[in-house]
Amino acid sequence: MRAAVLESHGDPLVVESRPDPDPAADGIVVETEACGICRSDWHAWQGHGGWIDDQVPTGHVLGHEPAGEVVAVGDDVETFTEGDVVAVPFSLGCGRCTFCRNGRANVCPNGRAIGFSPDTPGAFAEYVHVPAADFNAVALPDGVSATDMAALGCRFMTAYHALAHRADLAAGDWVAVHGCGGVGLSAVQVASALGARPLAVDLNEEALAMAADFGASVTVDATVDDVPGEIRDATDGGADVSVDALGVAETCRNSIHCLDRTGQHLQVGYTTEAEAGEVSLPIDHVTMHELDVLGSRGMPPSRYDELFGLIESGAVDPGALVTRHVSLDEVPERLAAMDDYGTVGVEVVTEF
Ligand SMILES: [Zn+2]
Ligand SMILES: [Zn+2]
Repeated sequence: MRAAVLESHGDPLVVESRPDPDPAADGIVVETEACGICRSDWHAWQGHGGWIDDQVPTGHVLGHEPAGEVVAVGDDVETFTEGDVVAVPFSLGCGRCTFCRNGRANVCPNGRAIGFSPDTPGAFAEYVHVPAADFNAVALPDGVSATDMAALGCRFMTAYHALAHRADLAAGDWVAVHGCGGVGLSAVQVASALGARPLAVDLNEEALAMAADFGASVTVDATVDDVPGEIRDATDGGADVSVDALGVAETCRNSIHCLDRTGQHLQVGYTTEAEAGEVSLPIDHVTMHELDVLGSRGMPPSRYDELFGLIESGAVDPGALVTRHVSLDEVPERLAAMDDYGTVGVEVVTEF
């Protein structure tokens, strides 16, 4: 099969031939119909994550937002048969530990991440293997396209889990979203669908225009001097929930400073080399105003039905995030375009 491979950190990915995967006894092989290109791929490509023992090794196939058709099924798999169309969350659980059994598979201590963990090649490839498939893969409802769903494996469900399960969000709450890339725009859509009032912050006018289309009633240009001050003014005191969807020190601190008293900060973006996993925070401010600082990662597969319900009702439309379809050969160049935030919305590989 053809696959986009990380030959060396920071150098363009190389599209080359790799052996087709065979299913493990508990696994399935999916013919990739669509796979989103995400900032997490960019982090992996750059060699980030060493500071949390999470650097992706060279020689690895990247890509972690697949949807497609099941083409081979391991002997022990009970839920899927060839021809089923599935989405796959990037964070795979073992299905057996306490966290998995309690519906927290996204933080499974035996977990593997497609396109990141060394023994779990990614989906910038014609085929991708999904281990513990009964537990991890999710059948797409009828009439839902793989392309529209590619973002479900990562960004959309990440935004949904953060706002629906981690935050204590109420209708009418102000939700500030710092960074309107794929996960940020997803958060705007989700906040709006959950009855909250999203406010979007970004450097890029086009991204802010998309955020406004998705329900952000206020947009803030991130180049202004005092982003938190603008947000506090626009929300009459501060946001109830704020999402750092980017992961740089400035967006993280702005997110905390823009909160109203008792507000909740959600850290969704991973940091870059500049922060190397550490950001100093206004911790006395957190104490004085009784703020919550919450981390959020992916979503357990057991919660997908909620999201499918929202999609079916028309309250959210992940497909609207897709701004461009690209081929596998274009992946190296599109990843490089993320160096200077040169992409808007979600780009999806649909030609392998
Ligand atoms: Zn992703
Ligand atoms: Zn587990």
